[in-house]
Amino acid sequence: MRTSEYILATQKETPSDAEVVSHQLMLRAGMIRKLASGLYTWLPSGLKVFRKVERIVREEMDKAGAIELLMPVIQPAELWEESGRWEQFGPELLRINDRHGRPFALGPTHEEVITDLVRREINSYKQLPITLYQVSTKVRDEVRPRFGVMRAREFTMKDAYSFHMTDECLEKTYHKMFQAYCNIFDRLGVDYRPVIADSGSIGGNLSHEFHVLAESGEDAIAFSDESDYAANIEKAEALAPNETRPAPSKELNTFDTPEAFTIAELKAKHGVKPHRGVKTLIVYGAPDEDGKRGLVALIVRGDHDLNELKAEKLAQVDSPLEMASEEDIVNAIGAKPGSLGPVGLSMPIIVDRSAAIMADFVAGANKDGVHYSGINWDRDVSAYTVEDIRNVVEGDPSPCGKGKILIKRGIEVGHVFQLGTKYSEAMKAGVLGEEGKNQTLTMGCYGIGVSRIVAAAIEQNNDDYGIKWPVAIAPFELAIVPMNMHKSHRIPEIAEKFYADLQNAGIDVLFDDRKERPGVMFNDMELIGIPYTLVIGERNLDENKVELKNRQTGEKLMLDIGSAVETIV
Ligand code: ATP
Ligand code: MG
Ligand code: MG
Ligand code: MG
Repeated sequence: MRTSEYILATQKETPSDAEVVSHQLMLRAGMIRKLASGLYTWLPSGLKVFRKVERIVREEMDKAGAIELLMPVIQPAELWEESGRWEQFGPELLRINDRHGRPFALGPTHEEVITDLVRREINSYKQLPITLYQVSTKVRDEVRPRFGVMRAREFTMKDAYSFHMTDECLEKTYHKMFQAYCNIFDRLGVDYRPVIADSGSIGGNLSHEFHVLAESGEDAIAFSDESDYAANIEKAEALAPNETRPAPSKELNTFDTPEAFTIAELKAKHGVKPHRGVKTLIVYGAPDEDGKRGLVALIVRGDHDLNELKAEKLAQVDSPLEMASEEDIVNAIGAKPGSLGPVGLSMPIIVDRSAAIMADFVAGANKDGVHYSGINWDRDVSAYTVEDIRNVVEGDPSPCGKGKILIKRGIEVGHVFQLGTKYSEAMKAGVLGEEGKNQTLTMGCYGIGVSRIVAAAIEQNNDDYGIKWPVAIAPFELAIVPMNMHKSHRIPEIAEKFYADLQNAGIDVLFDDRKERPGVMFNDMELIGIPYTLVIGERNLDENKVELKNRQTGEKLMLDIGSAVETIV
């Protein structure tokens, strides 16, 4: 691309209404322009970055076996009524009526549409499991659109949905998607952390968010300074003051990292039969009287039918979102008072006063007084919940038993959920199972904010001069800057030759062929954040050299004209 034929649209002034650096730089570097609150046009160089992110996401989804389709943005209200979200979603759901007065929503997400499609198209267990995805426009009437494309009202998401006959199968796909997300963020070249999260209005049993670490992030994340422990604190400002936190027990520090088991593994290894719908249990251990590991707290994740549990007199569960008290657990399992670690639950979880449930698990799995479980992902994010750490502040011992808690800020760029049967049950999506009986499907869903990633990457990669793109998503990989080209014969000739040769070598090149002062050209290339600049100037040409500048490191290399292309490639 030649700048003379392009629109660079760079600006010197920092726009006054842009609060965060990525928003300022996206405007100044000519990547986006605002149309109205939360609505942005992608200018050519911004769109190039966007497309590169999109391509990496698509390639990794394809590699993980997901199949691409494309669903409409406009969705009939009936589907949302079927799932119950027409009421539930609130004002973030942008609603419209057609000319006949029929209500529609502009899709903020596509669980309803995909579940409707699958219940029509998939009839047999033989067609499962299947993972379908799209890269498409989402509309959310955000209460506070801000930070440019970071929190927009119209944005692009890659959303994938998986359908299964069994929870074990869902867990396998979830794991595969989790790994695909790690591959995506590795390839994008951003510093990120997967964290245990709450599943919010999407619903479901287990979920992880992927966060790009940045000061401007809207979410707080708790880390251990010594292990892979990481969890999202949805409302950092809701952190309780020190005095109201339960005192951390000394024994907590003596814990090992909990061993990790999925429910399936627990079944196989310990013969535990968790109650129907239980997805995960996490057990904190502390030394008992004999110095062995004893059980002190248990967290159950699942979709129990509360009434059913009540009927079975297993527990008196008043609210599935209440914390289990120390006393409850002490009573349930006879732990030493004061030895409790963090006790909590995730949604829609039951621990609460369900002492009997805990006892039940203990009986099943704690034959020799050792009992701990969690989820084992390849990257070993630990299995702790948001609620475990609400009451945590920096410097506290980490609930995983290793190290101290650090709190950092993050930008949510991806979110994966084990949905279970929330949508398939409400919308009656089932297929014939092997025994010829109709069976409700179990689902997972997996979102990545393609447009938000562009802004998040800038938050991590910038300096006083502008953006410093990771090569994988830079709008151009290399800029050719010929100095005072119009005053020389050989400079344009050599610059043109480099332009042709580098393009032929597969490099994405911007040729700055404007009649501008070198300073103006350098400033623009730095602002736009092109990783390499090839500077062609008279004095170096006298020695048969050109200069290659690295935007990330500031390093300058002198290259021989004859071998420069080879060296760059
Ligand atoms: P947030 O907590 O930031 O509001 P969310 O939890 O509502 O995000 P999800 O429903 O999990 O978002 O959607 C999946 C992904 O879509 C998010 O991880 C994020 O990257 C992206 N996303 C969500 N809302 C927006 C938005 N308003 N603008 C840009 N990207 C968004
Ligand atoms: Mg949101
Ligand atoms: Mg969120
Ligand atoms: Mg989310």
